[in-house]
Amino acid sequence: MKKTNKFTILGAGLAGLSTSFHLGHESCIIYEAKPYYGGLIYSDFCSGFTWDMGPHISFTKNEYVRSIFEESVNQEFEEYEVHVNNFFKGYWIDHPAQCNLYQLPEPLRTKCLDSFLYSRFQETQLTNPRSYQDWLYQAFGPVFADVFPAAYTRKYWTTDPVNLGVDWIGPRVYYPDIEDVKNGFKGPLGHNTYYVTKVRYPSQGGFISFARKLADGAQIICNKTLQTINFRTRKLGFSDGTQIGYDILVSSIPLPTLIMCSVDAPAEIHEAASILRCTNLLLVNIAASHERKRNNHWIYVYDEDKLSTRISFTEGFSPNNAPYETTGIQVEVYGSAYSPLPKDYKDVIYKVQLELIEMGLLESREAVISVHVRYIPWANVIFDHNRQSALDKINSFLDSIGVIRAGRFAEWKYLWTDDSLLSGQRAAEQCLHHLYT
Ligand SMILES: Cc1cc2nc3c(=O)[nH]c(=O)nc-3n(C[C@H](O)[C@H](O)[C@H](O)COP(=O)(O)OP(=O)(O)OC[C@H]3O[C@@H](n4cnc5c(N)ncnc54)[C@H](O)[C@@H]3O)c2cc1C
Repeated sequence: MKKTNKFTILGAGLAGLSTSFHLGHESCIIYEAKPYYGGLIYSDFCSGFTWDMGPHISFTKNEYVRSIFEESVNQEFEEYEVHVNNFFKGYWIDHPAQCNLYQLPEPLRTKCLDSFLYSRFQETQLTNPRSYQDWLYQAFGPVFADVFPAAYTRKYWTTDPVNLGVDWIGPRVYYPDIEDVKNGFKGPLGHNTYYVTKVRYPSQGGFISFARKLADGAQIICNKTLQTINFRTRKLGFSDGTQIGYDILVSSIPLPTLIMCSVDAPAEIHEAASILRCTNLLLVNIAASHERKRNNHWIYVYDEDKLSTRISFTEGFSPNNAPYETTGIQVEVYGSAYSPLPKDYKDVIYKVQLELIEMGLLESREAVISVHVRYIPWANVIFDHNRQSALDKINSFLDSIGVIRAGRFAEWKYLWTDDSLLSGQRAAEQCLHHLYT
């Protein structure tokens, strides 16, 4: 068994690539399970269509991250304001729906406003929300909260809002201003209240192109799936039977995977890892022979009798993502241990197509040029009430043995691409600290 470079990195997603980039690629080796790098930001190419692993755009305000993305694509990127819509029982409501109540049918519209205003007058009662449900009731009033975000939570987070904490929310869910809701009840507000405004996306080559600067020169060994790890002897075992030693280890693979691979982590750490929950994602990519039917980048679907949760149009991100006068419709369907994904993918494809036809987004099944499905086992960390204490135990164990973590599933947080890149940069700093102390 031979020892390799100073720094060993598990996973070649954005966080792993960023760690290697910031340490200097020549001193790092990255082991990646897939035949390609990029992880969640990988882009697939198929008959003129570009498909990302779920809709990805960059809305970072961090200048450093922006410069890395810009240089990766030689300044060739699209920049635009996004147009987002909501579908609810046959109605189209601009996003965020709570500021566009005028598009709701009566009597729901008036009930939403009354319940919102009532809950705001009682605001002091709810200053310490114990669950996402409390937060939603306070922010929107129970009527809107139950009909819209609670329904969407069950589809996207795959569990009831009462089962989720509030530490992940930040700017991700808009806490509306009273005047905005009142004015949006009467008609269009005339200004955008969505946290995502101007976004960037590579002109060519899909979202993965933004990682080119980080990946150039990286020493990545693909098709290397970690299977065992001995923290005491510092040995990694891979699915191809090889065993490799490490000096300083950075893991950007999912925390539960790392712990489950461990042959010497205490039983209570294995137990803690088994408690962490995340969503899994089925992407249904449908290429259709007509232009997109709505001028939206993506659409949130609230109807709980529909599998489609979010629908995006790839050529809206860059016109080069789909051939002229066609559309790439990407539909997200979520599952988890709380609410497993359907097993029959053919049935999912069939149902999703019918839903798109019903919503007027697909002309007919005859208009479908191709369909393919991608399964993504790790999509979003679920912020359920068990998470924090389990995470604390695992983190203090890994800290005690000097295993550094970078990225969304290794930190077990709601990280976007900019956060993941910066998480890799922080991991690099920690590596240097380990080396020199
Ligand atoms: C549907 C969706 C849409 C998103 N949209 C946006 C967006 O619009 N804007 C934005 O900024 N962010 C978005 N994000 C978040 C963004 O994708 C992540 O922040 C980022 O890609 C995470 O990078 P990472 O390196 O931490 O993790 P990953 O990309 O998951 O990388 C981990 C790597 O580890 C590898 N690995 C796993 N197990 C093993 C093993 N046993 N052995 C070896 N290798 C292994 C994986 O193959 C993978 O390459 C979105 C996420 C999702 C799920």
